[in-house]
Amino acid sequence: MTPTTRFLTNPSPADLPKTADVVIIGGGPAGTAAAWAIERAAPNTRIVIIEQSSQLAAGSSLASLENYRTCWAAPCLHRLMQRSIDVFQHAEDYFGEGTKLGLKEQGYLFIAFTEAQAAKLKDDVDHLHRCGLTHTEYLNADDIASRYPWLGSRVIAAKYDPIAGWMDSNALVYALANATQSTTILLETKNASIRTEGSRVLGVSTANGDIDAPNVVIAAGANARAIGRTAGIELPIVMRPRQSFTTGWRHEAYPEDAPCVISAAPFPHVRPEAQSGAIFGYEYKWNTGKIPNYNGERTDALIDPIWPVEQLRDPRFPSLTLSLMAKQFGHKPGEGFADPRYLRGIYHRAGYYVYRDNAYLTLPDGTTEPYDSQRAIIDAWPEIDGLFLSIAHVGHGIMSAPAAGEILASRILKQPLPDESYVGFNLDAHFVEHDAGGLSDNGIKAVKPVSD
Ligand SMILES: Cc1cc2nc3c(=O)[nH]c(=O)nc-3n(C[C@H](O)[C@H](O)[C@H](O)COP(=O)(O)OP(=O)(O)OC[C@H]3O[C@@H](n4cnc5c(N)ncnc54)[C@H](O)[C@@H]3O)c2cc1C
Repeated sequence: MTPTTRFLTNPSPADLPKTADVVIIGGGPAGTAAAWAIERAAPNTRIVIIEQSSQLAAGSSLASLENYRTCWAAPCLHRLMQRSIDVFQHAEDYFGEGTKLGLKEQGYLFIAFTEAQAAKLKDDVDHLHRCGLTHTEYLNADDIASRYPWLGSRVIAAKYDPIAGWMDSNALVYALANATQSTTILLETKNASIRTEGSRVLGVSTANGDIDAPNVVIAAGANARAIGRTAGIELPIVMRPRQSFTTGWRHEAYPEDAPCVISAAPFPHVRPEAQSGAIFGYEYKWNTGKIPNYNGERTDALIDPIWPVEQLRDPRFPSLTLSLMAKQFGHKPGEGFADPRYLRGIYHRAGYYVYRDNAYLTLPDGTTEPYDSQRAIIDAWPEIDGLFLSIAHVGHGIMSAPAAGEILASRILKQPLPDESYVGFNLDAHFVEHDAGGLSDNGIKAVKPVSD
């Protein structure tokens, strides 16, 4: 397939397409995947992607660990990831000959140091097997000692997902974009605002001119709420800053072919990176005076993002993460994760996880209790014809991108959802079971809602 995608940077009003069938605001994983999937389902659809930066994928994916895994407890989430991973594994079929996504199919290993943690991982694996994810494994201490001796004797059990690994997220976004044939990509195109009349979308205005279109998609990551406001709506999302760092060095015992290791609560995680280094993440929460609280609560969830997000990096984050891991693994000063060489030449980043803010349980007494959902919102906005959302992709918008694009395409093209479990991504799907907990996958099992 020869790509015919048109890229225009800071286009003049004369070069700007005047009309389109679909305008997508945001050229990250969500926006480019939407264009790719719409075109696959309806070739020749005239699509315009508006990206404010000089390159695609200029949002949260810059800070991401670029990991993927199938072992999600909620069926809508594991179905989403399984479909997307199938696309990654057959990248040349979907994106064209020669496409390279840099897949490292090295698996994911969630580890336990205590009997209680081990029991939890065993429960998780039993649940995943019941869901049909029979490739996931529960490993006991002997299995670990023979497969991963470098983890040391403190690790007594693990949950292993072999259909997991990591990739080059920038390559994915450009593969999605370049596989389109009738999409125009506008880079460095700022001030996008949605034009509406009554309850209908008319198109998008930008600093470079206007585009008339009957369908507009908001896929602007942490800026989605601000874009929604241009159409007079408040999107139900919040942002939490998250950090990662890459080291140029890793301790000798830690092999290059290791899986991504998710340590026990509070779940710091690490994987090999760039041959001799490693990349670390940790959903570390902090609340400093820099972050305005909302609703008077002490929380790290923001209604409006703070830019540049890098100012929310906590300079202690790399050393805190390393010392937490050293403590968990029992590494003494100078050993393993406590080796000071890890702290040399660190590349430290921050980005936002965007969460849906309308997930709640309904308790037996009829009251509701909000929870941090892992589910994106991929749906039409009900009050404005032609307005669609692909937002709130939390910490997995890369691994879910192709399937998320397919859901969005089915919404725009008024086709059935590709999988019935995907109703979980509807705007008004306030609850699905096993949807919470992120890396802990502890979901919401004990409490059953009485409605919804
Ligand atoms: C520390 C960290 C680690 C992560 N690790 C992983 C991981 O291992 N695996 C995984 O799958 N995901 C991971 N994620 C999450 C992942 O990065 C996000 O879910 C994903 O990037 C969301 O994609 P998106 O397209 O919705 O938003 P973004 O990636 O934020 O992209 C939005 C795009 O829209 C553009 N834009 C914004 N505003 C406008 C505007 N007004 N006009 C035009 N364009 C605009 C931006 O420039 C950007 O290019 C991680 C995130 C962080 C922060």
